[in-house]
Amino acid sequence: MEKRALVTGASRGIGAAIALKLAEEGWDLVLTARNREKLTEIGEACKQRGATVTLILADISNEASVQSLFTEAGAIDLLVNNAGIGIFGELTEMALEDWRDVHRINVEGTFLCLREAMRGMKQRKGGRIINISSVVGVKGYPSQGAYGASKHALLGLTKTAIEEGRDANIRIHAICPGGVATEMIKQSRPDLTDFSAMIQPEDVAEAVDYLCRLPANITVDVIHRRRAASDQTW
Ligand code: NDP
Repeated sequence: MEKRALVTGASRGIGAAIALKLAEEGWDLVLTARNREKLTEIGEACKQRGATVTLILADISNEASVQSLFTEAGAIDLLVNNAGIGIFGELTEMALEDWRDVHRINVEGTFLCLREAMRGMKQRKGGRIINISSVVGVKGYPSQGAYGASKHALLGLTKTAIEEGRDANIRIHAICPGGVATEMIKQSRPDLTDFSAMIQPEDVAEAVDYLCRLPANITVDVIHRRRAASDQTW
């Protein structure tokens, strides 16, 4: 029976919405990010929804930090690998350091968390991991080269992990949302001003909840959540 979830990047945006949804669904929560103040705020909101909450500050791109995160967190039934960053700009203008920062956090950080979670889940013979990729993980968009490459990589990581987790009853999924109304979209699409018709963080949280409710004999590898409006490709 699943009951203890760890959500990375829970201090704001999509991660915060996922934490709140899981709290409402009766999960015990371990929430992590780097910003203490914002994480505490979300933790309090989850407690008000009845969850038991443990807050752990960690930088997912740092191996030692991730190892102590998982040691402190204890047994985890669900990992939501949500933390990520975007640095945007055309490839010809992209600094190598920015490219590396995006991959260090989005790819290496997600790998480090997945590896720690899978080690524990293999011992306990079960668990679930949800990686938040993006529509940019399946399509190309101008000025999203580094970010897009990192999100494509997450789908590759997910595909291998699905196969390696199968025999140990570890279910692994990816969610690929289109543009979601958070701080990140404001950076990637400064031309946009109306966020009301966009996918909301709660829509991604609903997809997490859906995956957690799948019957034991069924799995879903990837969920694509896109805007239905005909005037948009993202
Ligand atoms: P935000 O920028 O609003 O939030 C990102 C979260 O990641 C924050 O909680 C931040 O916390 C955390 N984070 C960033 N770097 C690190 C790090 N090194 N270690 C630990 N935590 C870190 O982004 P969104 O909520 O929009 O995005 C969440 C995920 O969804 C990302 O993976 C993103 O790529 C993906 N996504 C977003 C879409 C969008 O349009 N917004 C669309 C598709 C996918 P802190 O700064 O406190 O560490």
